[in-house]
Amino acid sequence: MTHHLLEICYLIGSVTFIIGMKMMGNAKTARRGNLIGAAGMIIAIIGTIFLHENRVENIDGVPTEVPVSATVYGLIFGAIGLGTVIGWMTAKKVQMTKMPELVSMFNGMGGACAALIGLMEYEQNRNQTGALIAIIAGMVIGSVSFSGSIIAYLKLNGTMNKPIRLPAYNIINTIVMIGVIGFAGWMVYASPAGHVMLYALFAVALVYGILFTVPIGGADMPVVISLLNSFTGLAAAFGGFLYDNYVMLTGGILVGSAGTLLTLEMCKAMNRPLSNVIFGAFGGGGAAAGTGPDVKGSIKDVGVSDLAVMMNYSKKVVIVPGYGLAVAQAQHVIHELEMLLEERGVEVKYAIHPVAGRMPGHMNVLLAESNVAYEKLVEMDDINPEFDQTDVVLVVGANDVVNPAAKSDPASPIYGMPILEVDRAKHIVVNKRSMSAGYAGIDNLLFYDQKCSMFFGDAKKALTELVAELKTMD
Ligand code: NDP
Repeated sequence: MTHHLLEICYLIGSVTFIIGMKMMGNAKTARRGNLIGAAGMIIAIIGTIFLHENRVENIDGVPTEVPVSATVYGLIFGAIGLGTVIGWMTAKKVQMTKMPELVSMFNGMGGACAALIGLMEYEQNRNQTGALIAIIAGMVIGSVSFSGSIIAYLKLNGTMNKPIRLPAYNIINTIVMIGVIGFAGWMVYASPAGHVMLYALFAVALVYGILFTVPIGGADMPVVISLLNSFTGLAAAFGGFLYDNYVMLTGGILVGSAGTLLTLEMCKAMNRPLSNVIFGAFGGGGAAAGTGPDVKGSIKDVGVSDLAVMMNYSKKVVIVPGYGLAVAQAQHVIHELEMLLEERGVEVKYAIHPVAGRMPGHMNVLLAESNVAYEKLVEMDDINPEFDQTDVVLVVGANDVVNPAAKSDPASPIYGMPILEVDRAKHIVVNKRSMSAGYAGIDNLLFYDQKCSMFFGDAKKALTELVAELKTMD
């Protein structure tokens, strides 16, 4: 009876994961989808704790049920309580712009769990080939994901802000990878090996995770995080095989496949093959990137009243949000500007670049927070042809995603990345605080374009002034 109830819990868990994930594909339903998935996870955890039959074989080989002791329950609930408090508090206070770091850290914890399962279950299962494959594979992939995610976390929070590249790092990494796979294969077929070898494999896999992530930097970091995420999913799926646990298997497969798809989508958005991301070593992001083209020319700036007039008499305005909008928390005031212009008969849209901001979907989430209608957010491929008929493009805190060097300068680290072609519009206005570079650390020729004016200032402050100025106009 309890066995059937547990199966039902797992079924509910699996179905809610799938429904939740589907709902996360749309900004309107994403929040509810997340909660539904979390509810399914709670059901699966509670079911496992109270309904799982803890059977072990007695001396005659007969499976006998062993009751779980109060100490074990205490340890389980203690660990759950501790994890819940830490997870809740961290997620509650994290700034939106720090989300990739948080995702990276949580992902690392998932990898560590998968690796620990392998270390713990080895002794009991080392004579069964099937279980051993699941244990070794889950432990190796989980370890790579753990150490790789920690390095990604340190890179994103600026602790490791310089890419470290050993000479011939590609060859070294490939040799270590082949070594890890060979060692893992040997552990399965030529053993049972002792614990020392198991820990040696664990250590080598950790080292590979570090070597794999260390040379990667800059705009390639989100791709790597997503790839590591899919590794963790795969490692968890192996745990599902081992325990014959369907909800763990489904959850792992979902994370693994979603992570893989997201990785490929991001590579497509940056127009870079995955092999180039892994072996190409992008030049180190905001902290240490190339200098870009030798920019010559002058820039012009625009005052708030001239800009208000320009926008008030436009027919069509396209807003390009970027990382600076998120930093300034200017999402509410930009929505107010949009509504004000629409009241005056101006058509307003938002142009969304797939890697704008610092995480996939960053701009969608940010603008949904201020209730911008979802239909107003137009993807890059759809908005680019519309720039020809746009009177004013207002770029707010975006830089790399509108940098023409991506199309014109083969030496640029962002060369080949599709961009928002704002230079096709009649007027371009860029709001940022200074002439500083964006994430890729390179100059932007757009700012020197004849049609471009700079509207300097913190996005929230500058847009608040613009809104106030517009309100004074008839
Ligand atoms: P960028 O990082 O290229 O540029 C942001 C600009 O915002 C800066 O030049 C900065 O200029 C300006 N800014 C910062 N603070 C403010 C403020 N308070 N008010 C106004 N402006 C401000 O951003 P984009 O969104 O254009 O491009 C994203 C970049 O990040 C890409 O290179 C992408 O590859 C990378 N990336 C993307 C991830 C993703 O998943 N979306 C993850 C990690 C990296 P100034 O200092 O002069 O104000």
